Formats: sequence, C-alpha cells, structure tokens
Amino acid sequence: MSGPKHERGPFYWSADSEYCKHGTEPDWNANGDTWDLWSDRHPASDDGRICLDAFAGEACLTCSSEEVDMIPWDDCRIRVRIRPKGGMVPNPDTDH
Ligand SMILES: [Zn+2]
Ligand SMILES: [Zn+2]
Repeated sequence: MSGPKHERGPFYWSADSEYCKHGTEPDWNANGDTWDLWSDRHPASDDGRICLDAFAGEACLTCSSEEVDMIPWDDCRIRVRIRPKGGMVPNPDTDH
C-alpha cells in the first residue's frame, strides 16, 4: 500500500459557496465584532474557509481534498477498488 490514507469525515461546503447563507466575509477592519461571529462559524481549512452550517455529508476527506470537491464516502476511489467482485454482491439486474 502506498499513498495517503483515506479517511472518512464530515464535509462542509466552503464559505464562498452557494450553500453558505451567511453572506460574504465581513471586513474585519471596519467591523471586527461581526467578523468574529462570522469567523466562529467559518473555520479555516486547507482549502479555505468552510461553513459549519452547510453540512454536505459524510465524505472521504482525502478524495475531496484531491478533487477539490465533495466526494461522498461511498464514492471514495479506494473504497470502490476494494469492493468484492461478481457473485459476492446480489445484483437485481441479473434476475431476468
Ligand atoms: Zn456560512
Ligand atoms: Zn478516498
């Protein structure tokens, strides 16, 4: 095995996405208190600020970070790769 470990975790939309209903980041120079409140709900992540009120779901944090998009845990490419092949999983489409 090589490469980064794939971890499951909660994923939040970024603060500048349409999912954040708080509006744009206040000017902390002009409005420090407002910015403090805004900042509490929007901690910085590796990919910029996220909105804690815009929960996207359980994601693979590694895939999401690589794709710079929300990759659900179910769609993690590592997980997909280790899924059992034919015969192990019931497939309703084969019942003709
Ligand atoms: Zn927000
Ligand atoms: Zn992954």
